[in-house]
This record gives sequence, C-alpha cells and structure tokens, in this order.
Amino acid sequence: MTDLARCLAEAYAVALPHRRDGKVADYIPALAAVDPMQFGMALALPDGTLHVEGDADTPFSIQSVSKVFTLALALRRIGSDLWTSVGREPSGSAFNSVVQLESEQGIPRNPLINAGAIATTDRLIDGRDGDAVADEILAFMRARAGDPGVEIDLDVAASEARTGARNRSLAYFMDAFGNLRHPVETVVGVYFRQCAIAMSCRQLARAGLFLAMEGRDPLTGEQLVDPHRARRINAIMMLCGHYDNSGEFAFRVGLPGKSGVGGGILCIAPGQGAIAVWSPGLNEAGTSLAGAIALEHFAYAAGWSVFD
Ligand code: GLU
Repeated sequence: MTDLARCLAEAYAVALPHRRDGKVADYIPALAAVDPMQFGMALALPDGTLHVEGDADTPFSIQSVSKVFTLALALRRIGSDLWTSVGREPSGSAFNSVVQLESEQGIPRNPLINAGAIATTDRLIDGRDGDAVADEILAFMRARAGDPGVEIDLDVAASEARTGARNRSLAYFMDAFGNLRHPVETVVGVYFRQCAIAMSCRQLARAGLFLAMEGRDPLTGEQLVDPHRARRINAIMMLCGHYDNSGEFAFRVGLPGKSGVGGGILCIAPGQGAIAVWSPGLNEAGTSLAGAIALEHFAYAAGWSVFD
C-alpha cells in the first residue's frame, strides 16, 4: 500500500526551497504583509485520517478557493438555473479580466473567475439579506472543516472592499447586461467576505472531502450535493481552477484544484481524499508556485490522477 504520509513529506521537502520563487499578492494590501516563507500541507482521507506537514495549522486567507464552496451552495439552492447566469468554459484569461464579459454579453465564462464567482454569489443570495448569506457561507465552511473556530478575517475583507474597484467594475458590467439580481454593493459585500475566510490547510483539506466522495461528507454522513453535481464541480475545477494556468496545472498535477491569491490550493482526488497546500508566493497567474510543485510531486508519488 502507498505510504501517503511519506509521499506528503517528500512533496513538502521538494517544494520547500521554491518558496522564494513566487510573489505575494500585493493588490490587496492586507495580503501583501504575509510572510512568504510559510508553507503548509494537509491531506484528508475519507476515514478521518489527516496527515500534515509544515505550517498546516496556520490560518490563511482562502480567497478564491471559497468560489468552489459558494458554487456548491448555489447549485444546492437554485440548481441548474445557475447556468443561465454563468457558463462553464475555461476562460484562458486573467482572474479579473473584463474583456470577455463585454464580448459575451455579461455572462461570465465560468464560476471560478472573479466575474463568474460574483454572479454565483448573486444567485446564492436569492433575495436574502447579504449578512445572512455571508453567515450561511461561514457556517458551511465551519461544518465542512469540522471546526467552529473558522472565521472571516474582517481586516482582509475591509482591505478588499477598499481596493475592490476592479471587482465592482465586473459587477456593474454584469448589472448593465441585466445579469445581476441584487445591488452591486450587496453582492460584492458577500463576495469580499467569502474571500476573506481564514482557514488552515488542515481545515481546508477536511472541508474538501465531500467533493472527493461524490458530494457526501464522509465524516458527518451528509449528502451535501448530488453525486453528479460533485463530479461536475470537479470538472469545472479541473478546467477553470487556475485561470489561464489551468491547462498547466492539469498537465502537471492531473487532479481538480482551485487556487487562491492568498497562496492556498485545494486539490481533490476523487474517491481518495483532499489535499490543501499553502505557500503565499504566487506564479504569474495567481497560483501558489511552491504549492503547485508540492501537489505535482504528491500526486505523482501517490499515483493519484483522474487520467488513470
Ligand atoms: N479576492 C480576490 C479577488 O477578488 C480573489 C482572487 C483569487 O484568489 O484568485 O481579487
């Protein structure tokens, strides 16, 4: 049997020297202050086993990793009608690109680019108060992490709100095309808070388990999304999880993943488990540089790939 703890330790050791190669996101001032030398990994298995390496218990800003969870929540709430507001094609462009939105009449390419995540959050709101929806997202993350201590970092949320002209532009653009059902400030207010959720690798890997197990949280027994929806969320992560770096990640890692500009990546190995890595230095597309190296080595050593 593969010694997964050893594979994780090896992947950690291989990637550790690359921490300095990436660049910490600085367009959100609260993220620019993060120490780039921190590096953690966690592997969650469906029987509840957790293997960890490095700074696996330090909370970090999950940023766009949150988009996967709001996608699951929105699909659960409004079902396939979500796909009238957002597509499911890779974008091949930057996470916050406005260009495609204009040519595609305000319907974002997929739920994992910023515009698509904002449209998804808009549909998740579904006529409710923004605070109630932010609370729902946080409660979902706490339940998935199996840890009531998960919090929204309000400094990061405020920092994003202060510097969020680009995300507001995306929202106004969609609004102009009639693809937003709630006021821009309500929608981005929830979006900034979901991005500012702080979690450790240990919590995030545990939180991703339901996507590895056909939508069922193996530790609570809850069926959170239908099996076919979990498969489709994984398909979207595989094709769109790293913006215009998604092909490279699929090529190198061979597993669905979602990056965040806080330096976290959640990676799903269907039927096997979930892996979370965190290293704040990013490549040009906004994916953790050392994190992607670690995942490539782990997946190779463990023999995990959706292309088996
Ligand atoms: N909150 C970030 C933004 O909206 C998320 C981007 C990311 O993590 O890739 O710019």
